[in-house]
Amino acid sequence: MKQWVLYYLILFRRAVCRTLSPNQILFPFSFQLDFWINPSTPALPVDVRIPANGVQAVKAFLESHGIEYSILIEDLQVVLDKEKQDMACSQQRDRSSNSFNYGTYNTLDSIYAELDHLASEFSNIVSKLKIGESYEKRPLYVLKFSTGGRNRPAIWIDAGIHSREWVTQASAVWIAKKIASDYGKDPSITSLLNKMDIFLLAVSNPDGYVFTHTTNRMWRKTRSKNQGSQCVGVDPNRNWDAGFGGPGASSNPCSDSYRGPRANSEVEVKSVVNFIKNHGNIRAFLTLHSYSQLLMYPYGYKCTKPADYAELDALGKAAANSIRSLYGTTFTVGSICTTIYQASGGSIDWSYDYGIKYSFAFELRDTGRYGFLLPVNQIIPTAEETWLGLKTIMEHVRDNSY
Ligand SMILES: [Zn+2]
Repeated sequence: MKQWVLYYLILFRRAVCRTLSPNQILFPFSFQLDFWINPSTPALPVDVRIPANGVQAVKAFLESHGIEYSILIEDLQVVLDKEKQDMACSQQRDRSSNSFNYGTYNTLDSIYAELDHLASEFSNIVSKLKIGESYEKRPLYVLKFSTGGRNRPAIWIDAGIHSREWVTQASAVWIAKKIASDYGKDPSITSLLNKMDIFLLAVSNPDGYVFTHTTNRMWRKTRSKNQGSQCVGVDPNRNWDAGFGGPGASSNPCSDSYRGPRANSEVEVKSVVNFIKNHGNIRAFLTLHSYSQLLMYPYGYKCTKPADYAELDALGKAAANSIRSLYGTTFTVGSICTTIYQASGGSIDWSYDYGIKYSFAFELRDTGRYGFLLPVNQIIPTAEETWLGLKTIMEHVRDNSY
């Protein structure tokens, strides 16, 4: 097995800016910084990963500008090694038991095998659809949960559009099993599936996901080639046709938030757009990201309230209460623009403007202790609490047709 690229890195936390504008804290350094949380308003902290050879320069910059900071993870390599070790241990266990382990991070191949397994084990309600292929020609698989009928109103759920957000793909597979096994037992999901269908895309960016396993654990974008640039990939959550090219997305192919040459340039985005348009009866669009513990509704590309602001805000707060009820995990609720920052080309802005009223983006655990490297023992608790939040939204959608 290939080794991780070595990161001798420090993750800086909460470089709170008192005197500089957000753009000014896009530090003027020759090396590239990896923002785990992007600079937004001066009041909000950012999390940034610094290469070891840049630490002294960054510290000097922050101190000379009076910016407070603290170190979140002293050596990221230690956390990466631990993650890898945890995965290796569970792989050994799984080989002997020959079953899918929901409590670890799995490769794309094992996830895809589990989707097949779910479709055969629960063939009465689960089927697998291929809605397209990634840039590198990997299939994009959606699980359809349906008890019959034709083109019923439906709920869309996706995860992993940003490949390094591993707890989202893992939670999505857990949720798939939960939906399938709770039908007929849990009155809530049973009544929902007697009226509506659910479509779930567990790995929205399979090329990126494979790349995070083989080469660079911190990869976020797609793996498409950019004309005229050595840099690879587009941020697939800046590529939707919603305020495309506006603030909060980069025109630089080397940036982690590169929007791409045009809206829907990424086949991973275009495939979902086509699926939703062809279906024509999607009533909720729910997307899973990590990290920060947020539950957000439109808009991101502009800072005006959506027409359904009051209903979305109340529903978001109800879902956050459901999440908190299990393990006490607190989620902040609000629009993308007011909660994090203005960001254009995002999926829920597109779905909302397309007419899907119940459009929400979740940012799952944690708030920065581990960031994208959430320990494996938090996967199932994260999935469980997320499921309660999703269920609150889905019940509302079931009971409020529009
Ligand atoms: Zn994300």
